[in-house]
Amino acid sequence: MPQYDYDLFVIGAGSGGVRAARLASKAGARVAIAEQVQVGGTCVLRGCVPKKLLVYGAEFGQAFRDAKGFGWTVEWARFDWATLRDHVQAEVNRLSGLYQKNLDAASVEMIEDRAIVVDPHRVRLTGDGREFTAERILIAVGGHTTRPTDIPGQELGITSTDCFTLESLPSSVVIAGGGYIALEFANIFSGLGVETTVVYRGERILRGFDHDIRAHVQADMQRTGVHIMCGSTITGVEAIGENRKLVTLSNSMRIETDHVLWAIGREPNTNGMGLEAAGVRLTARGAVAVDEFSRSSVPSIWAIGDVTDRVNLTPVAIREAVAFVETEFMGRPTSFDHADVASAVFSRPAVGSVGLTEEQAREKVGKIRVFRTNFRAMKNILAGNEQRVLMKLIVAADSDRVVGVHIAGSEGPELIQLAAIAVKAGLTKAQWDATCAVHPTAAEELVLMGEPIAHDNEAPA
Ligand code: NDP
Repeated sequence: MPQYDYDLFVIGAGSGGVRAARLASKAGARVAIAEQVQVGGTCVLRGCVPKKLLVYGAEFGQAFRDAKGFGWTVEWARFDWATLRDHVQAEVNRLSGLYQKNLDAASVEMIEDRAIVVDPHRVRLTGDGREFTAERILIAVGGHTTRPTDIPGQELGITSTDCFTLESLPSSVVIAGGGYIALEFANIFSGLGVETTVVYRGERILRGFDHDIRAHVQADMQRTGVHIMCGSTITGVEAIGENRKLVTLSNSMRIETDHVLWAIGREPNTNGMGLEAAGVRLTARGAVAVDEFSRSSVPSIWAIGDVTDRVNLTPVAIREAVAFVETEFMGRPTSFDHADVASAVFSRPAVGSVGLTEEQAREKVGKIRVFRTNFRAMKNILAGNEQRVLMKLIVAADSDRVVGVHIAGSEGPELIQLAAIAVKAGLTKAQWDATCAVHPTAAEELVLMGEPIAHDNEAPA
């Protein structure tokens, strides 16, 4: 008779939890996974996947405009929000079903209920009250969108989760925030013809990204008609008539709009999980504190993904899951290296970024060389589309290693995946240069940047 009901009890069936459950089960463990909503988690149900599909939908408007320069007449183009929304939801449900199928195929026991931790080896289902014991518990419950707590009328606003199921396409939206979610929804809404205003508290959007990329994206979004108000915040929201809101800003401006979208960050889902009572230490931001093997302060409890607030990206949660299973169920102690994880922002222009920004490199590496190119892609010239591509390589002067690659342009997210291999492998600028160009592409510019624009410790322009 085994000592515990399960070898592994996973709480949360998002990308990380599902991967850990499947792999552990395949490795011979008796595994259960509990999910309170629907299998798939943030990425599949209300994040990456539906967002990217909406981005695709929004891109057609520009494509139709570009088509004219190539001889096409597209006068019949009309957009129907309900069609896109419903198709996206259908795809999300299909993927959720596939996740479920994969769990079944791996013989993972699925429990449709909210589970919380009772003690280091025990969980309770809050729905039916049942309790289970497990040798190991894995917390993979992700995070949630946040709202301001101190702004009158904040409850009149929506979050990114609500955007996927809007009854109708608004005529205008005011978005609070200047990070990933704010800019991706600014791209979606403005691309679909919605009057879009971004209200950002800092000087320039996309804090944390390379300064040239931030300036380029901000200028180009403004060129395409997105209003970006930096150095301001929303101080109040009032309902004015049916479905309209009056937004007041810290700079005293007032804007009438259909929707206010809070895109001001996400927080780990640790509230009410019983973690602290079980001895699990949380960080100041309420995330589960873990070591490099994703183990919490309680030796039988691990945590992966956004609930740990390390690098909050789906592929990272999956790699943390794999490392956890390899360590605990396959006898191969493995920790995921969080350095040089590439990411993409599906703004317009989109951004792909990996490694150090120019500012970070000056601080961490010291002497650097910076290569930058800014050009109009071939297609855009014929299309009469003014959008330009910005590419930037950051090179450590002493070792010649390329330590950062930053691209703003429609193909940025695709290109950065390959650039990330080179950065992770520590390839030198000389090795990039020895790689022959692929012509005619935008990507070829990455191996054709001959002269640095800045040397050593020159301050950024
Ligand atoms: P981000 O942290 O990227 O951006 C939050 C934004 O809101 C920042 O501009 C921040 O300003 C601002 N902000 C924070 N608090 C306040 C406040 N009280 N008042 C006004 N503004 C505020 O969070 P997101 O919500 O955009 O996304 C959450 C995370 O999800 C991302 O960091 C990323 O890890 C992940 N994600 C990844 C995506 C991708 O890979 N493409 C897509 C979407 C999300 P400031 O810069 O000054 O701090």
